[in-house]
Amino acid sequence: MKRMLWLACVLASAPALAQAPDIVLVNGRINTLDAKASVAEALAIRGERIVAVGSFAKVRPLIAKATRVIDLHGRTVVPGLIDSHMHAIRAALSFSTEVNWIGTKSIAEALARLRDAAKTRKSGDWLIVAGGWTPEQLAEKRAPTQAELAEAGGDHPVYVQLFYRWAMLTPKAFEQLGIKEDKDVPPAGKLDRDERGAHTGGISGNTPTITALFARLPKPTFDEQVEGTKKFFSELNRLGLTGVIDPGGFGMSPPDYQALFKIWKDGDLSLRVAYTIFAQGRGKELDDYKNLTQLLPMGFGDSWLRFNGIGENVAWGVYNNDNPSDAARQQFTEICKWAASQKMALNIHWHNDSSAGVVLDIFDRVNQEHSIKDLRWTIAHLEDASEPTLKRMKTLGVGWALQDAGYFEGEQQLKEKGAEAMKRIPRMNSAMYIGVHVGAGTDAHRVMSYNPWVALRWMLDGKTVGGQSWRGAEETPTRVNALRMYTQGSAWFAFAEKERGSLEVGKLADLAVLSKDYFKVPVEEIGEIEAVITVVGGRIAYEKL
Ligand SMILES: [Zn+2]
Repeated sequence: MKRMLWLACVLASAPALAQAPDIVLVNGRINTLDAKASVAEALAIRGERIVAVGSFAKVRPLIAKATRVIDLHGRTVVPGLIDSHMHAIRAALSFSTEVNWIGTKSIAEALARLRDAAKTRKSGDWLIVAGGWTPEQLAEKRAPTQAELAEAGGDHPVYVQLFYRWAMLTPKAFEQLGIKEDKDVPPAGKLDRDERGAHTGGISGNTPTITALFARLPKPTFDEQVEGTKKFFSELNRLGLTGVIDPGGFGMSPPDYQALFKIWKDGDLSLRVAYTIFAQGRGKELDDYKNLTQLLPMGFGDSWLRFNGIGENVAWGVYNNDNPSDAARQQFTEICKWAASQKMALNIHWHNDSSAGVVLDIFDRVNQEHSIKDLRWTIAHLEDASEPTLKRMKTLGVGWALQDAGYFEGEQQLKEKGAEAMKRIPRMNSAMYIGVHVGAGTDAHRVMSYNPWVALRWMLDGKTVGGQSWRGAEETPTRVNALRMYTQGSAWFAFAEKERGSLEVGKLADLAVLSKDYFKVPVEEIGEIEAVITVVGGRIAYEKL
């Protein structure tokens, strides 16, 4: 008994030793993004949390023998970035088996990536570029031709998708899918033809058509999905991302989440994921939600993986539809009522301000029965949100998940909206003054690059990939405010702003040490920033010092 007591005393004094931090960063410019945006020299991490931040003199006494001290040589540190709307789970599944054109600057470079993949893949394996690029980024300002793709692909069938409206396939790919005419690409595919009526290899179609076409390509195996997910998440860590809010996607059904769940169970996640259920079955959306969430209450999970409600396709009838039928509105209203009664978060994809009232009127009506104020409902996209819309969103407690769609699509938006309107697209500063919660992000990877620094640069200079800009100073945020939208702004959408998004004592140690000083470099250089160290939950997820 006595011995036990002695042992207990020793153990009780043990925590004093355990107080030493695991990692201390010194000699940095640590942008805490606290309320005062203070900059600190040093930061200490123990376990998964920040235990001290401030001057070196303040942090130094904590350093013990076991502490890893990292000298930052004056480098800039920011809170880990969080993308408020990235189809990351889907992108990850095929990351080890797809070819990526993100950031390529010429057709030669894009074809070289195909050639590299052709060398390493088994003969006959598909080479798939699933999106994330635009002809505007290439010096030639055009898509590669079928002959170029076929030459680069060698004995591999090649599939290249552009947004959700076009794909180019090589003759081998046409042959394998058995596509000979328009009707072989349902529901609305059209084979592109030149002036003489010959097929060029392109297939044009709407979102359901291109989605259905993509679904015919071979799927990665489970092991490839696990590998792809780990690789994609470390690729995001390389860019300083430590979290995403994932809105599901077309074709994302429960089996597609199993690779992610395995990595989570194994304790191997390097990125925090909050995910929502994207409606798959048309007409049975509400039944599906009811079924799937019986064992999945809102918020279920942990700080790495959390269930975050429904969307971004809440109901097929109101998905990206400026003028839904009465029946579709009714069905959407029922779903919203159910979500509100369950205190479930909800996010919806919407593009045009002119029809945003369709959604907000219904939210208003639902709000009179069940308050949605604290449920963090979200509208994603809505690039041209007007002041009245933003004010209604603020009143209802609805957040705005904003992406750099204009980086790829600015020239197209100009045609639709005109130069005068483009000066105020998107209204980032107005949203801030009005008090709407804004989370920045990309909508990667089919329609957009996942690079947060490209998105931040675009938030600051409005420049498209083609080099044009129309946005005025009045809606251009400061660097601090843009970064706040990409950190604590996005954290709000995962109910996590008290846990992450700034570097303060007690918060999770999610941060990135940057290759360049985001606050000081010319704005053109912001898009080239990478992390040299990324820490997620106190673990070094990426390191290249
Ligand atoms: Zn969307």
